[in-house]
Amino acid sequence: TRGKEWAQMVSPRVKPLNILGLGYSVGTDGQVLTGEIVVVKTFEELANRSQEVKGKFVVYNFDFKGYGESVKYRGSGASEAAKYGAIGALVRSVTPFSINSPHTGMQSYKSGVPKIPAVSITVEDAELFGRLAARGVKVNVSLYMEASMADREGTSRNTVSEITGTDKPNEVVLVSGHLDSWDVGQGAMDDGGGAFISWRALSVIKKLGLKPKRTMRSVLWTGEEMGLIGVQAYAKQHAGELNRMSIAMESDIGTFTPLGITFSGTNSTAQCIVNEILQSLNTINATKLTLNEEGSDIDYLMAAGVPGSSLDNAHETYFYYHHSNGDTMTVEDSHQLDLCTAVWAATSYAFAALDDLLPR
Ligand SMILES: [Zn+2]
Repeated sequence: TRGKEWAQMVSPRVKPLNILGLGYSVGTDGQVLTGEIVVVKTFEELANRSQEVKGKFVVYNFDFKGYGESVKYRGSGASEAAKYGAIGALVRSVTPFSINSPHTGMQSYKSGVPKIPAVSITVEDAELFGRLAARGVKVNVSLYMEASMADREGTSRNTVSEITGTDKPNEVVLVSGHLDSWDVGQGAMDDGGGAFISWRALSVIKKLGLKPKRTMRSVLWTGEEMGLIGVQAYAKQHAGELNRMSIAMESDIGTFTPLGITFSGTNSTAQCIVNEILQSLNTINATKLTLNEEGSDIDYLMAAGVPGSSLDNAHETYFYYHHSNGDTMTVEDSHQLDLCTAVWAATSYAFAALDDLLPR
């Protein structure tokens, strides 16, 4: 549970900080934690200045170089700082754009290192700290966090629906998105949109009276944000079926105007088939095929050999909202969602209608 949380700069002047505690972070034990800050840009700088860190907060004010590259400071910044005796980690939000909005997300503690509070701060505050540090100004920060973990595990379920195939009911085309989200905002773009179109694709097929040859299955994963928990249980339970899963599709990188799909398969015949299917979407300009292994939940299915596919879309602003209070229904556009649904329904149905499984 997040509970109450707040932070402020207490010197050289008092300024409230917009923060969000990070996933699995410990709280401050009912105390207000106050200390000086050390501002670093990289883990290398942290290691070089490790002597300065003891008893202080480490501020990560990295240069944003894309989500994949920069998310490591959020993911392991607390433990890296704790190695050298830091009392907390204040991590610049992992976003290319900010209106003073903190962005939360997962972090994990390394074993053998003390667990210290880990919070995201805004790009603006991280840069302010960076400027003050560059001028040699001593900055003190106070932090209060009630963050706590339940002492027992709960039950959560993947949500599954399907249209049984007419000719090959044991072969599966899977479309998916994740149903869980962070507690802030509404989780509309991450991943309400992806879950919506993955459910909607099947209902469109059903409404049109189409009968797929092989089974079309929609899975709305649970526990993605907490560490891909739902898909891991699914992959285990369905291990015997994965060689009959033609393709695993996932939408978790935005539902803006669709451009096409990505494809992870390396078989050139399969790539040709996917490309051919995409040509049917030329009326909505969504014919782009990108060969890569984009995915989150489906990583576990791709690792088991299932070809994977993600919805490619004009998602340049995705991380503006990601894991923040700004991820609300306001950023979803119903026309764009309809187009994404069309791509999802048309491509998944085409895969389900092929004579054979996609060659691997
Ligand atoms: Zn997501």
